[in-house]
Amino acid sequence: MSSSLAFFKGKILPIEEAQVNVMTHALHYGTAVFEGIRGNWNKDQKELYVFRMQEHYERMKQGCSMLMLDIPYSVEELCQITLELIKKCGYQEDLYIRPLAYKSDELVANLKLQEIGSDFTLIMVPFGQYLETDGALNCCTSSWRRVDDTNVPPRLKISGTYVNGILAKTEATLAGFDEAIMLTQDGFVSEGSGENIFVVADNHIYTPPVSDSNLAGITRDSAIQIARSNLGLEIIERRIRRSELYLADEVFLTGTAAHIQGIGRLDNRIIGDGNKGLITSKIDEIYQQAIRGNHKDYIHWCTSALNH
Ligand code: PMP
Repeated sequence: MSSSLAFFKGKILPIEEAQVNVMTHALHYGTAVFEGIRGNWNKDQKELYVFRMQEHYERMKQGCSMLMLDIPYSVEELCQITLELIKKCGYQEDLYIRPLAYKSDELVANLKLQEIGSDFTLIMVPFGQYLETDGALNCCTSSWRRVDDTNVPPRLKISGTYVNGILAKTEATLAGFDEAIMLTQDGFVSEGSGENIFVVADNHIYTPPVSDSNLAGITRDSAIQIARSNLGLEIIERRIRRSELYLADEVFLTGTAAHIQGIGRLDNRIIGDGNKGLITSKIDEIYQQAIRGNHKDYIHWCTSALNH
């Protein structure tokens, strides 16, 4: 069974043959929309579960409409292509699945989206932990502010926008931190470079509204649903001040790659007792079951890739 395959220009082929020309518009301008989806291996069931695949492709389609990326596939067809590629690749381990809709015309000096053709490609790679941690993350507040909706829409996964988070992540890791926390243009807490953020204080959970320049995260939504329906905890969406993070009982991040991670230190201050907090751990425990098809309440979030 071959492992390195791509869906490219309408066909499944070896990844080495999936090549774009240097004139490709998206390469120059970041005119693309991508997704990050996880396939989670369940070793007892010998099954690979794709987590909330439909929602990921729905978000990608919203990005496509924002960037006038006309791709000839429906959400349903994109899901089918993904399942077909997973089967052909034959991985029996956790996967990171990366669809990309991009401005594919080989035409550089043109900034009119309406004139530039689009295509869709898909790759997948084995993927374990994204953030290495011995329990809780050590983060800093970035000197880079999160891009605002008046610049480019931060709620969608537009490729060019990622330069913003990449600058923050690079700054943080070069300074010895695990992850960067970004503030909005007017100084409220927005999110991590690739994760949404939550604060636990007085048995309430707070998270910034998506209008505070963060990505409309699918793990964010999963954590909210788990906290509400399995733990009976109230989640309040409201603007959050930087100082509230320092004084919180717990702070945690959510993302497809990162999963659910507690923050133990921020800007050299200890959050709570410096470890992954109790509420974070409870949400994470249910989330870990959910993503591998092991939680009865969330089977509908999982698509079986091998035995479907
Ligand atoms: N914010 C940003 C900037 C991200 O890149 C991601 C990862 N997609 C997230 C938040 C978390 O989103 P999700 O839970 O949908 O992966």
